[in-house]
Amino acid sequence: MSEEQRKASSASCGTTALPDGAASCGLISRSAGTRHHDLDITIYDQPYLQPIMEESFLEWKSEASSLLSQVGGEWAVLNSEGVWLAGDSALQDYFLAGDDETLQRVLRTGQPAAAVSDAVMGGRTVCAVPLQSRTRGELFGALVRVSLEDKLDERVLVLTEAAGLLLRSCFYRGFQSIFVNDLEKVYVQAAKEARQRSILFQYIKRMHSRIDVDKVLTEVMESILGLYPEVGLELFMSQDHESNHPLVKPLLLHHWQEEIYVRTFMEGTVTTLHRGSGEEARVEIGVPVGGKQGVYGVLHLKATGPLMEELDVELLEMMADAAGTAFENAKLYEQSNVMIHELRMINELTQRLSKSLHLADIYQFANQELRKILGAHYCCILVMNEELGALEVASCNAPWLAKEVFPKEYGIGGHVYQSKEPFILADYAAERPAESKLMETTGSSSMIATPLMVNGGIRGVILMSHRKKHYFSYDNYRLLQTLSSHIGLAVGNASLHAEVRRMANRDMLTELYARHYLDEAIQKCQSRDFCGSLILVDIDHFKRVNDTFGHQKGDKILKQVSNVIKSSIRQSDIAARWGGEELAVYLPGLGIDQAFQVGERIRQRVEQETDPLVTVSCGISEWNWTQERISVESLFYRADMALYQAKNSGRNQIMIEETESSGD
Ligand code: GH3
Ligand code: MG
Ligand code: MG
Repeated sequence: MSEEQRKASSASCGTTALPDGAASCGLISRSAGTRHHDLDITIYDQPYLQPIMEESFLEWKSEASSLLSQVGGEWAVLNSEGVWLAGDSALQDYFLAGDDETLQRVLRTGQPAAAVSDAVMGGRTVCAVPLQSRTRGELFGALVRVSLEDKLDERVLVLTEAAGLLLRSCFYRGFQSIFVNDLEKVYVQAAKEARQRSILFQYIKRMHSRIDVDKVLTEVMESILGLYPEVGLELFMSQDHESNHPLVKPLLLHHWQEEIYVRTFMEGTVTTLHRGSGEEARVEIGVPVGGKQGVYGVLHLKATGPLMEELDVELLEMMADAAGTAFENAKLYEQSNVMIHELRMINELTQRLSKSLHLADIYQFANQELRKILGAHYCCILVMNEELGALEVASCNAPWLAKEVFPKEYGIGGHVYQSKEPFILADYAAERPAESKLMETTGSSSMIATPLMVNGGIRGVILMSHRKKHYFSYDNYRLLQTLSSHIGLAVGNASLHAEVRRMANRDMLTELYARHYLDEAIQKCQSRDFCGSLILVDIDHFKRVNDTFGHQKGDKILKQVSNVIKSSIRQSDIAARWGGEELAVYLPGLGIDQAFQVGERIRQRVEQETDPLVTVSCGISEWNWTQERISVESLFYRADMALYQAKNSGRNQIMIEETESSGD
């Protein structure tokens, strides 16, 4: 085998960890390059011969005992450079002390030799025979016999040669058995590696088919335990996700800084820690589980005894890497699913919200949808009532709260309204950040709340509660904020629409209802009520007022009169601008006498409160369910007739329609 071949094959066996170390490696290398029957030692094996020779020497001594007892003397084996390999201990000092000439000759010539040393050297008879390799006859050592007899006997040399051949046989036997052992070890190792490769391959295939975070974690744990059933295994995860696997634990960074898994997480590299020694020896390994975006956790392994040698850190690293990538993918998949789900819900909610332009419907619908989406027990939507300066319940599924009005500083709702910040509460009883009627009366424990923003301003607050503690997740909290902004949009739209509607039904100058609105309202009342009255109000000599003070002043007076009317009637009454300076009030459910009193109040107040002072004349008509012909037109006609009478009778007075009975 050439030096190049040897180097190459040595490199290839670098991964085999055999107890004989380099010696075994050198011998095994042969199996890669040579066939079995060519197996022989070379000069390159020289450094590894001693352990084999030591054993072979002992075996040889027992096998050749009868021969040796015939020959007598002490024996030693030295390598081709004369270095001691094995032998009777009595000779060790002799060969250490200096070169033996006979030995040197044998090593030089490769021929057996014998000589008697001089008296200074102790007068020994030294007999040496070469040890040569079987196939190529390369000299790899010598067997030396030393005795204190001073005669040289031809027979001794022959017997020594025979002993040398026997020793070579013993040596080759040992050499081959080591080779076979090594071969077996290589085979076992290769089988183990193949198995690991196959496990790793299957494992990676499974990993990449997983789209469930929890299953990825279970997979890595079970695969490692499948490889090393005895290992102590835990997986510390830094992310807040729930795993059902008992060995998956949260990674708490704020304590145990000295723990190996904390260090592994911080540094993002494999950390190995050996503790104790001998029987007590154990190893702890931390392997980071990470992907492209960071480290998510740490596999923590503990092993003792023989298991330590089996643990293959590189393999664990590969498994952890695959788990990290799969975890990241599964997490992304999970997040995109959540996002798609949220978008779908937002889409549905906005679509359905936009179907209605009535605020009450919107609040009612939002309430019901929010409870469904977030799985909450109660939802309460508070809206600012500007007139009251208080938060009014716009919608609540706890019926006893449906009509409540709260001061704008009250409770959790007040807090959210004031701060305009969302709010999450895990345990009301324990935390009690503020009093809450919703929480108290519904027996709720957890809550999420968000301000309801409309056109950039705060309009109200949405409160969601659940009877269970710690019910709402951070995702719920975030989702409520998103949903509330969409509800805010719908509320904004509906408010605008309501404003447009209100404006369409109103007269711009007086802010009283427009004529068409009054017509429709009276029609509606006539189909529903038993009776009702109409007062027509006309400003006296208004032309003169305009002429005297100007049209603008005239407008102001018109507004003053309108305000007098508005503040003289009930909410259910309807005041409208009927024509130029003619105003009308419809009083649902009122008979003519009561209507007269209202008219009188208006008349008197106008006389006192307008500036410049004007007066009004009124005409009143009424209808009731007993009449055959009920119509808006006839009601107006009759009131107008009465008004005409009032004007004719001197103005600043009220006239009642002429009824059939009074006409009689
Ligand atoms: P009387 O009703 O007492 O018989 O006298 P009058 O002067 O009020 O007569 P009439 O009701 O017929 O006149 C209506 C006048 O009201 C005509 C017009 O100049 C004035 N007028 C109508 N609409 C407006 C308005 O919007 N602003 C102002 N400044 N004047 C108006
Ligand atoms: Mg007039
Ligand atoms: Mg008029």
